[in-house]
Formats: sequence, C-alpha cells, structure tokens
Amino acid sequence: MIRPRLVAGNWKMHTVPESASKLAAEIIQHKSEFGPVEVALFPPFTSLAAVREIVGKSKIRLGGQNMHFESEGAFTGEVSGTMLKASGCSMVILGHSERRLYFGETDQLINLKLEKALEGELIPIFCLGEKLPERQNGKTFEVLERQLAAGLGGLRFDEKQLVIAYEPVWAIGTGVNATPEQAAEAHRFLREKLSTLVGPPVAEKLRILYGGSVNAGVAGALFAEEEIDGALVGGASLKAAEFVEIVKKAK
Ligand code: PEP
Repeated sequence: MIRPRLVAGNWKMHTVPESASKLAAEIIQHKSEFGPVEVALFPPFTSLAAVREIVGKSKIRLGGQNMHFESEGAFTGEVSGTMLKASGCSMVILGHSERRLYFGETDQLINLKLEKALEGELIPIFCLGEKLPERQNGKTFEVLERQLAAGLGGLRFDEKQLVIAYEPVWAIGTGVNATPEQAAEAHRFLREKLSTLVGPPVAEKLRILYGGSVNAGVAGALFAEEEIDGALVGGASLKAAEFVEIVKKAK
C-alpha cells in the first residue's frame, strides 16, 4: 500500500486526566494488534500530559485538537504549536468543522495555523467538508475546492508533513456516515485538486482520512475503498474496544 493507513481519535471536550489515562491504557494494551496502521490520540489539552505518560515510547502518536498561529504572546486562553510540541505532540487537528462553526474559524485563519504547524514540524490533520444544504444544492465540490485551495494557499509540504481529513459536516456526530461511495468520490476529487496544488507525486502519497460517524460497524466498508486512507473518529474513539476494532478494520 503506498499510503500507510492512519486512525485518529478526536476526544473533543471529553475526559479529565484520570479518565483519559484509563482510556489510553485500554487502547494501548492492544497495540500489538494494530499491525502497520498508525494510531493517533487527540485528548483535550488538559489531558495531554496524562496520555503522554501512557503512550510513552510506543509508536502511538499524540496530538492537539487546535492551536494558535503564533508561538507565544498575549493571547489569553490560547495554546501554541510550540506548547503542543513540548507536551509530546507530533500532530494537530486544524480546520475541524466545530472550530469553523462555533468559533468562527475562517479558511484564512486555518491557513495561518497550518503554516505555523508545518513550520514547527507538527503534522496537521487538515479537516474540510461540506454542510448538508451545500451537498443538497450540488455545491460539494465547489466548497471542497475552496476550502482546500484557501487552507493550503502558499504552503509547501510533502506527504509526511500533512494529512487531509474529509469530514462532511452533516455526518459529524449525527450517526449518519457518508456512504463509502460518497466518501471515495470526494477523496478522488480532493486528490485530483491536490495534484494541481502540490504535484502528482506528492498528491498520490498524501493521506486522506474520512471522518463522520465512523464506528466499528461501518469502518470495514469504508476502508474497502482504496481512496480512504484511514479515519478521524470522534464519538467512537471514546470507547476503547470500539476504537481498537476500527483500527483493526484498517489493517
Ligand atoms: C470528528 O470529531 O472529527 C468526528 C468525525 O466525529 P464523529 O466520529 O463523532 O462523527
């Protein structure tokens, strides 16, 4: 397989250090079953230290759910990429639809954050995806193209430095996942556009994850699509057994 699969667990605003340690330990005890699949955990900032202890020197990656576009400064309540790096993170989720929707993050802001993450050698999982009315009005590809071009504008990276996550907003936390065909179609479109942005050799090797109500029941069918290089999992990543099952389906 030219693109090693990645399964990432976005714990959102769930867990405190004690429950985060427990969840991480329950997942990590199965690490010998993960095979070549890369696994990454994204606890809330306040649980990073606890999960770092558990992850230790294993290959499981640790990541932040967001970051600021400056390294430090008078930005009360914000966390920088430098801070994430120093807390053991090698990845960061950027452009998540919940950040766009509830915190007003624009394509331009996300572009600045992506630039900073790349500069600081944090691998961003750059999320994008259309809302339901946009899909219903036949605007899916237009939205994806705009988000992709604006988010990545002016940036240079290769396939090891960045991951894309196609996350249709209507599928996030709703229990309604995109069908494997819908996801594969969007991934193919994104890869085609990436080809123009970064050139075919890098585009071919960049990983595009699917996110939106992935659970152990639907993971197999999604991963059967060769365009789907893994998953960004929200709700189901809070249940160790289910998350482990999803990782195993990606093998
Ligand atoms: C997400 O948070 O990125 C996500 C896809 O959530 P869920 O799996 O709960 O839909």
